[in-house]
Amino acid sequence: MNIQYGKQSIDEDDIQAVVDVLRGDYLTTGPNVTEFEQVVCKYTGAKFAVAISNGTAALHAACFAAGIGAGDEVITTPITFAASSNCVLYCGATPVFADIKPDSYNIDPEDIKRKITDKTKAIIAVHFTGQPCEMEEIHAIAKEHGLIVIEDAAHALGADYKGNKIGALSDMTTFSFHPVKHITTGEGGMIMTNDEKLYKKLVLFRSHGITRDEELMTCNEGGWYYQQLALGYNYRITDIQCALGISQMKKLDRFVSRRRELVARYNSAFAEVENIICPAQIEGCNNSWHLYVVQVPDRKNLYDKLKEAGIYANVHYIPVYKHPYYQNNGYSEVCCSNAEELYAHMISLPLYPDLTDEEQEYVIEQVKKNI
Ligand SMILES: *Cc1c(COP(=O)(O)O)cnc(C)c1O
Repeated sequence: MNIQYGKQSIDEDDIQAVVDVLRGDYLTTGPNVTEFEQVVCKYTGAKFAVAISNGTAALHAACFAAGIGAGDEVITTPITFAASSNCVLYCGATPVFADIKPDSYNIDPEDIKRKITDKTKAIIAVHFTGQPCEMEEIHAIAKEHGLIVIEDAAHALGADYKGNKIGALSDMTTFSFHPVKHITTGEGGMIMTNDEKLYKKLVLFRSHGITRDEELMTCNEGGWYYQQLALGYNYRITDIQCALGISQMKKLDRFVSRRRELVARYNSAFAEVENIICPAQIEGCNNSWHLYVVQVPDRKNLYDKLKEAGIYANVHYIPVYKHPYYQNNGYSEVCCSNAEELYAHMISLPLYPDLTDEEQEYVIEQVKKNI
């Protein structure tokens, strides 16, 4: 047995889509990039999208477009991948960690309020596991304090919040297309926004801060001319990747429903099992289930026993501020007690569309046996 916690689903159509690009004229910055952006706009309801080299670059670009810089503070959750707060550090600003709620495992709006200072500039809300954060509450706080809201939706493509797809609800929303996420482009990411000004900044940032847009340039010396207006990066994504993304998007709804089906099967299998806490159902939201996280008394033992049985579970996440880099750079006194309590007991069980019923049965049996 060799069952990973997550993996991509690639079929012959995906392979053909990539091969077609290789036979065509544009390998990068071509029509597949624009089409991929349009497909995700249509799916989420966002007005604008910028496809970018990965989900971390998407967060970096969003922080840049939000004008986050030295002296600013940005509030986020510790139960996330380090990229959610590293992007703040890239801009010379300071991440501030607000604790999570013990039911949803998402950032607690009440603790956001407690962490706001004169320096707070933005909130990065992470929809952990695909469970949407309390966006109404977060938007109300942001409005009261004049803050920008960025959603790190790396886990939440396909999720709904109060009947709306995640992707068009805040100033900006970012996605990742890493192979373990809902759809993949190998490496890839996207930023969604409804604001044209932010959109233009995101486009600049993706390619060195360089533009040929007459409206943005200070002058135009001829057809060859372009100007660098800001310090951007080469965060471009290829047409090869975007062709894969377009093909994957056709299957997103099927992927998400299979994930939901597998989660329902796990939940019912574990309902009567003592010592296992399944994820809570949160009113008004429809989780798209990037991860299936349970809490158990002896996580280390279960992790090791599953590994012996060929099941490669994982732990998402070590509270970000616990990493040595953060500990050594001013976060040694930080303590989010709900996050630490969750970390002590959490384990992510295998969940991906191609996980078969039989494989899942085997995982369930091994969990029950070793808990
Ligand atoms: C995967 C992930 C990212 C980073 O995305 P990459 O495409 O790997 O750069 C950011 N935030 C969260 C919560 C993630 O899970």
